[in-house]
Amino acid sequence: MAAESQGSGGPAGAGPGDEVGAHVSIAGGTANAPARAREIDARVIQLFTKQANRWAERDVDADEAAAFRSAREAGGITHAASHDSYLINLATADDVLFHRSLASFTNEIRRSEALGLDFAVTHPGNATDGDRDRGLRRNADAIADALDAVPGRVRVLLEGTAGSGTALGSTFEELGELLRRIGERHPDRIGICLDTCHLWAAGYDLRALDDVLEALETTVGLRHLAFLHLNDSATPFGSRRDRHADIGEGTIGEAPFRLLMCHSALAGVPKVIETPKGDDAVAADRANLARLRAFRPKKDAKRRKE
Ligand SMILES: [Zn+2]
Ligand SMILES: [Zn+2]
Repeated sequence: MAAESQGSGGPAGAGPGDEVGAHVSIAGGTANAPARAREIDARVIQLFTKQANRWAERDVDADEAAAFRSAREAGGITHAASHDSYLINLATADDVLFHRSLASFTNEIRRSEALGLDFAVTHPGNATDGDRDRGLRRNADAIADALDAVPGRVRVLLEGTAGSGTALGSTFEELGELLRRIGERHPDRIGICLDTCHLWAAGYDLRALDDVLEALETTVGLRHLAFLHLNDSATPFGSRRDRHADIGEGTIGEAPFRLLMCHSALAGVPKVIETPKGDDAVAADRANLARLRAFRPKKDAKRRKE
């Protein structure tokens, strides 16, 4: 986990240790992403390395890799993650879709590695035939095979899902099973990403954050939690539907985000928002990040009291 990112830049702003950021656009090329992070005072980013809703693949060549790396350095980005294509289903029983998905996922890891990203976030697939055990095994083996095919250091993070339909990974038990199976082959290249909107939709009550983290500790292990997606939810608790809302304006509300931003066990875990961008992505992201930063413990206030 990212121990070096511990500590914070203070309650108000984005100091060097600030751990909140956003999913940012790669319009015009991946090397533009760090500058977009700069516009919103973020040093943690997530990006797509290709169009996420298309099968079309692409490679990251040496020029692009060098341009991204130098832009990242100039922007002081501490953590950078990719997110895989929404079309990928590594748990499917359909062999044609499976092989297409595995090829696409392997390319995602290859691009992430070329860009020098820290993490590659992936949604567990759908067991469309209803056989969840088979789906979990196939999904885990496929990720381990992709890591075999692309040696390197990028760490694959299994993202907890909202659990709609036959989606795997909406329970900590299933995430733990995937993690253990992949960990037998690649213990240093696998971890977990949790999304507050998905947790809420899947029935994890974030108002009782300590209980949720305790359940995570006993099933997965908190040390495997490497990344957080902070999104409010536009759908009710337990709805199993995934629709993101602005921080504090959805069905989750402010209180759980305040708990999350203050919890010592999550202090060093990088966090990104995937909230609605509206017509003005910079203004929208700045507003959501400002809300989260305001929830941080007020260190100065505490000191004055002492
Ligand atoms: Zn997410
Ligand atoms: Zn989502």
